[in-house]
Amino acid sequence: MAETILVVNAGSSSIKFQLFAIGQGDQLDRRLKGQIEGIGTRPRLSARDANGASAVDESWSPDEVGELSDALDRLVVFLRNYVGRLPVAISHRVVHGGPDFVEPTTVTARIIDRLQRFIPFAPLHQPNNLAPMKIVLERQPQLLQVACFDTAFHRGHPEIADRYAIPENLYREGVRRYGFHGLSYEYIAMRLREVAPEIADGGVVAAHLGSGASMCALSAGKSIESTMGFTALDGLPMGTRPGQMDAGIVLYLINEKGMTTKEVEHFLYHDCGLKGLSGISNDVRDLLASSDPRAKLALDYFTYRIALFVGLLAAALGGIDGLVFTAGIGENAPGIRQAVSDRLSWLGIELSEMANRKNELRISSKRSRVACYVVPTDEELMIAKHTLGVLRKSTSEQLKEKRA
Ligand code: ADP
Repeated sequence: MAETILVVNAGSSSIKFQLFAIGQGDQLDRRLKGQIEGIGTRPRLSARDANGASAVDESWSPDEVGELSDALDRLVVFLRNYVGRLPVAISHRVVHGGPDFVEPTTVTARIIDRLQRFIPFAPLHQPNNLAPMKIVLERQPQLLQVACFDTAFHRGHPEIADRYAIPENLYREGVRRYGFHGLSYEYIAMRLREVAPEIADGGVVAAHLGSGASMCALSAGKSIESTMGFTALDGLPMGTRPGQMDAGIVLYLINEKGMTTKEVEHFLYHDCGLKGLSGISNDVRDLLASSDPRAKLALDYFTYRIALFVGLLAAALGGIDGLVFTAGIGENAPGIRQAVSDRLSWLGIELSEMANRKNELRISSKRSRVACYVVPTDEELMIAKHTLGVLRKSTSEQLKEKRA
């Protein structure tokens, strides 16, 4: 097989990965999509090739694969056999790049140290994202590793969008409105240039509606505002997170309900959102299928808040030309898109019922004043593209050094 790039997204007990082959003219072809799950409990490596056929499905006992390093070893053995050689680069999705990381960055021990400082900003995700980097750096120090950040695409926000109304010392130490899902929005901005050039240079509101959900204001393809802030708790209600909420509720939970900070953290990340509101499920598919009035309330709340935030982001942009839906719900739930759009008729938004029902690319009617699109996101491809860019840059720099 040609040279490959391995894209890694590491969670607490699983590693999701995708393998891209670098083809002619630096075309990236997805060859594998897989995961190692159940690390330490019921470890299992599975992956599918580009045709959806199973490429591997192996399970081990927790004694054999008890830790992340064991899981990575098994992945390397599999990739060596499958591809014939190691990837030329491994890229890592990293949730938090703090104030300073504005672009994909080559991983070194010093960079890992700097990224560790952001663990308090994303305590549930950052340590898991960094763990495989450290192991690979120890075992294969010559292998290029690249960190790609969910925050980086938003770092060009104007200061007014980056601030909370709190004293400056907290801002200086990093308490800022970062915004997340940046790799998804960057992909959408790039893709709009190909599929919807008439709005790509204008003002676009993009809604990434997955189990995590946020929205982004894109001005000529650049992010200028996001519904998410310091952490991925802010903004839209999500599967299990509440979204925007009065900070006084947190004080109430601690002072009046006697909850510890750990309990509050667990509550905010796992027990709220669509799950908390409906008492039924965090999954929009379950709620759409339910006749329970609480399911309807949760979905109404979701679409109401999305529509409110379209108004907010449209104000940040000074008007909008396009509205884009993406991620699991945005790409697959016509009813949700319709309900959001119905609330936005005051903006001149009108969907073509048929195009929307069929999940077509352009779903607005001819009369609509705002062009509405469904654009499937591809964060892994965005990461692989960034990594190829870093690889090509470092190769050309090495060549220059040799010549000098
Ligand atoms: P993640 O944030 O985990 O990457 P996804 O973008 O894959 O999530 O979105 C997952 C969510 O998408 C699910 O929780 C589910 O609510 C929603 N979803 C997926 N398919 C459908 C569908 N056909 N109709 C409605 N919602 C869907």
